[in-house]
Order: sequence, then structure tokens, then C-alpha cells
Amino acid sequence: MRRERLFDGHGRRISDLRVSVTDRCNFRCQYCMPAEGLPWLGRADILTFEEIERLVRLLAEMGVTDVRLTGGEPLVRRDFPRLVSMLAGTEGLRDLSLTTNGYLLERDADALVEAGIRRVNVSIDSLQRDRFFQLTRRDALPRVLRGLEALARHPEVRPIKVNAVAIRGFTEQEALPFAEFARRTEFQVRFIEFMPLDGDRAWTPDAVLTGRELRELIGRVYPLEELPREPSATARVFRFADGRGEIGFIDPVSEPFCADCNRIRLTADGKLRTCLFSLHETDLREPLRSGAGDDELERILRDAVWRKELKHHVGEPGFRQPPRSMSAIGG
Ligand code: SAM
Ligand code: SF4
Repeated sequence: MRRERLFDGHGRRISDLRVSVTDRCNFRCQYCMPAEGLPWLGRADILTFEEIERLVRLLAEMGVTDVRLTGGEPLVRRDFPRLVSMLAGTEGLRDLSLTTNGYLLERDADALVEAGIRRVNVSIDSLQRDRFFQLTRRDALPRVLRGLEALARHPEVRPIKVNAVAIRGFTEQEALPFAEFARRTEFQVRFIEFMPLDGDRAWTPDAVLTGRELRELIGRVYPLEELPREPSATARVFRFADGRGEIGFIDPVSEPFCADCNRIRLTADGKLRTCLFSLHETDLREPLRSGAGDDELERILRDAVWRKELKHHVGEPGFRQPPRSMSAIGG
């Protein structure tokens, strides 16, 4: 069934949904979660696969074409590939993708591909084992790299992206190794600026290593040429001038792309968030569980999306970090 397209009050058409399937994680990345973890949601608090499927179908009827599954760590949710197969055939969906830390990919890559995943982002912040351990608090780099290889054995999964959070005092040393990795493999490397969504609330503006700084570091050794950017694409992508590969930069802090934002988020406990930095959420779980029909849910979704924030205020006076940190929102 086709429904009216979904627009916010600033005229932006919403076509991209991030679904967090769990708030739990087997890593404790410094920029995301405290070392001791967070109080996890109870089993009954998180949406069932059937509830997620229903919301995705309804949003697809309203023009959402791209769905990314994330968390927490999506692969720690029991039977996760079953959810992928439930969503893969949704009418109107063009793109069903996954963001993972890769720890369980060696185990799950085949099942995920069989279930219908065709695009995957794997988060890797350092290509050196000790530095990876330092940042994620897990000595897991070899295992993650094996997971990446397991995925790469499936030619139907492309592109495979490797995302690294860019943190001052850490990522400067990673810039060239990642550039070389991007040049010698088929993996597409993206640096993401560190955002104030860490569980430890240790973020400061100074801790953001900007995309511009990274481009300078890399460009001195391997000159870069910018590729044309699609509207609503979050990354600025550059190719190496000698033609060997490309590298991307997602710069939400230093160069916000809010004006073109087409994205909404669903948390594992069924709250709709219209911005990563939202201070307000809309509960969908209660209406779902108290028997709301599709038209009623549609009205709730439209009202919430209409109020989508014009922009984030990171770096401005009075900015307030949202109560939930990245792992509980779904990055
Ligand atoms: N656990 C999976 C993973 O790490 O890929 C999926 C969830 S994680 C929250 C999604 C993405 O958010 C990861 O690429 C992670 O590096 C990024 N991220 C987490 N905290 C961040 C922060 N404070 N600033 C920027 N990116 C962050
Ligand atoms: Fe877990 Fe991903 Fe957060 Fe790291 S970034 S703690 S892997 S949710």
C-alpha cells in the first residue's frame, strides 16, 4: 500500500531510517560506552522482530527507502539474521544495510548474506592491535579483521565500508595506515568526527579531529581529489590523485549537513528520534502494544517527523548532550 510521502516541517523528505535492534554491546569503545557498560533494557522493553517489521513496512509505505540496522551491537541480538530476512522483502525498500563492530561477523557473515544483507559498515578505529584495544577496551582486532574477510568472500555484499571515529590525540597516527589500507584493499574507509554522544561525557570541542585536518595529513603524502557529492550523502569522498582507491570523511561537527538530513531513528525500546541530538522522543511501543491500527501509527509518525529539528547545536553556547549515549540511540 502506498501512503503519502513523509515530510518534516522544514520541507525535508524523510527516506532513511536507522533501526537500533539492541542497546547491548560486547565492546566498550571509549567514545561511546563507559568501561562498566550501561544499565541494559529488559527483554520485554525492546521491540520484537514483528514490531520492528511492522514499523519498517509502514514507513516504507510512507516513502522510506533505506534502512540501516544498528545498535548497540546488532549481532549480539539472538537470531538477528532472522530479522534481516523478515525485512529484506519489504516493498519499497531499496537498501537494507548493517553497521557492526565485526566481532561476530566470522560467525554470522554467511547467514546475514543469505538473509539479504547487501551493504555493511564495519567499525574499526585502528589497524594496530594494541591501539585498537586501547580504544575499544577489547583485544579483538585480529578477530574483527577475520570477520571482514569472511564478509568480503561474498561478492554480492558491496560496498563494504570501514568506519573510524576521528579523535584528537589518537587518530592522527591512524590517518596514513588507513589511507594505505584504502589504497591496497577494496574496503572503503570513512573517518567520522567524534560527536558529543559518549557515555562518559568526556567529549570536548578540542577532542574532535576534523575531516579537514585528516585530509591535510593524508593529502601531503597521497594527494586527494574530491568527487562530486550527492545531496543527503553524509560523506565527502575523495579519490587518490594517482587513481588508486578513495577515502571519505563524515564531518557532522565541523561541517554539519543538517539542511539535507533525510533521516530518522528508531531506538531498541521503540522510541522515534528525529535527530541524533534530540532531547525529545516519541514513544511508538505503547501504541503498538495497545492495538493501534496502521492509520493511527501513521498519524503519530507524521506528527513526530513534522517536528524534526532544523539542525543540531553542537559547539554552540547552551548545547545540551542528550541523556542517551550513542549505543542507546543507534548510531
Ligand atoms: N556497534 C556497532 C558499531 O560499532 O559499528 C553499531 C553501533 S555504533 C553506535 C555505530 C557507529 O557509531 C560506529 O561506527 C561508531 O564508531 C560510531 N560512534 C559511536 N560513538 C560515536 C561518537 N561519540 N562520535 C562519532 N561516532 C560514534
Ligand atoms: Fe559498541 Fe559500537 Fe558503541 Fe563500540 S561504538 S561500544 S562497538 S555500540
